[in-house]
Amino acid sequence: MTDTAKAGTACALVWLRRDLRWDDHAALYHALRRYPRVHCVFIFDTDILGALHSRQDRRVEFIHASVQALDQELRALAQRSGAPGGGLIVRHGPAAQCIVQLAQSLGVQEVLANRDYEPGAIARDRQVAQALQAAGIAFSDYKDQVLLEQNEVLTQQGQPYSVFTPYKRAWLQKLDAFQLKPYPVERYARHLAPPPAGEALPTLQVLGFEATNLRQMALPTGMQGAQQLLQDFVPRMAAYKDARDYPGRRGVSYLSVHLRFGTVSIRQLAALAAAQAAQGCEGAQTWLSELAWRDFYFMILWHHPQVVTQSFRPEYDRVQWDDAPELWRAWCEARTGYPLVDAAMRQLLQTGYMHNRLRMVVASFLTKDLGIDWRRGERFFAQHLNDYDLAANNGGWQWAASTGCDAQPWFRIFNPVTQSQRFDPDGKFIRRYVPELARVPDKHIHFPAAMTPIELQACGLRLGQDYPLPVVDHASARERTLMRFHFLSAKAGA
Ligand code: FAD
Repeated sequence: MTDTAKAGTACALVWLRRDLRWDDHAALYHALRRYPRVHCVFIFDTDILGALHSRQDRRVEFIHASVQALDQELRALAQRSGAPGGGLIVRHGPAAQCIVQLAQSLGVQEVLANRDYEPGAIARDRQVAQALQAAGIAFSDYKDQVLLEQNEVLTQQGQPYSVFTPYKRAWLQKLDAFQLKPYPVERYARHLAPPPAGEALPTLQVLGFEATNLRQMALPTGMQGAQQLLQDFVPRMAAYKDARDYPGRRGVSYLSVHLRFGTVSIRQLAALAAAQAAQGCEGAQTWLSELAWRDFYFMILWHHPQVVTQSFRPEYDRVQWDDAPELWRAWCEARTGYPLVDAAMRQLLQTGYMHNRLRMVVASFLTKDLGIDWRRGERFFAQHLNDYDLAANNGGWQWAASTGCDAQPWFRIFNPVTQSQRFDPDGKFIRRYVPELARVPDKHIHFPAAMTPIELQACGLRLGQDYPLPVVDHASARERTLMRFHFLSAKAGA
């Protein structure tokens, strides 16, 4: 602690980014413990907002609602703790500039933030740290977003893992009580400082955005929303292992958007799962593994930032993908003629969420049935997913396209019809999103193109009019993909 901090005149600024909560918050805890006056800021970064493809974006609305709630939460926390103020400063502009200007105008000694692992954010933070340093202000960042980061889990040879299963084994060994311990922010909350006078949260319209269907979808926002979803999931956690693969059932937690924006602490979730797993709960063990996948992809992105544009396995960048504009449009617009694929894409377009099983199915379909570059699908998901996260999305797409971290070879090609029969056996999910197939019997719902004219007539379906014919034949598409990848291995061996 510096002399000024001890003397009680020092103040710090906590810069919130994808960590929109106050509890169990690493940077906020460190700031409050070390400084007698701590301000908190969130910046609606015009560099990020300006690049979004639509002015109706559920994520912006989710963030806006969560920021508004956090402002109230911080005020209430300050009041409970006897602090003179509390609340959130909110700015709208280029983050790198805004943060330096604000730090100077508040006269803080240090800016603290939770660490980010995306190449763009790392570069921005480096630039901010330099600008702050030039102004005589320190910058520090903390692990908060993940459980184990960077070089914390390495092979015995000191190398980063590239395959998940051995990584998870080592990750579980390292994940001790210390890693899961929450930061006791409340203990020092009396140090929260009031925001400068005249502070007001800009409306969505001022930010240049319009309301979406987020509220109709009843997706709860903010810290309280995350806890609501968690309470709903806890009694279902034991069944997670069996239920998680069925999009028609409520088998998963739906917490990804909250993890994305940090309205919930990853330590809280992992501690809960680890405690239940230690008592032999298989569902909790499986869920903890999913949280390990999250850390795994953050680690991959941090060690291998080139994956943002290139295949994790460089030799796979020689795969010749097709341009196929008609097929691409059919996939984007959910009219491929494969009901599970179309239902999944409609779930994405209508809600911003897609079930994990379906993300694997549609990603496999795009790359292996339509022969289209995984990067195009990845970008489409980036535009539409509420929980879009560069590390997990890139990892998921490269896994599905067989260009990434996967122990399985490239000839694993999902069959969209058998996946549908297996994971949506009674077509419940398909009927929810593709109502034009509502009257198709269970037996044919997975592939209506196989129905005879009499069967079609019996359920009143006009294929090619009410619902599209399949845009490709899966068996021949599969052969083409095998050729595409075979050609690559032949070349590699030559
Ligand atoms: P749950 O099943 O309840 O899992 C709990 C949490 O574990 C999730 O919220 C998530 O944070 C983490 N998790 C689960 N599975 C994975 C995984 N395979 N990789 C990394 N983390 C995981 N997840 C994202 O958060 N953002 C993305 O942009 C994203 N894109 C994906 C793209 C593809 C092609 C694929 C195959 C997967 C992608 N995933 C992504 C992973 C996964 O599909 C989602 O995390 C999950 O569906 C979110 O729903 P949930 O919160 O109910 O998950």
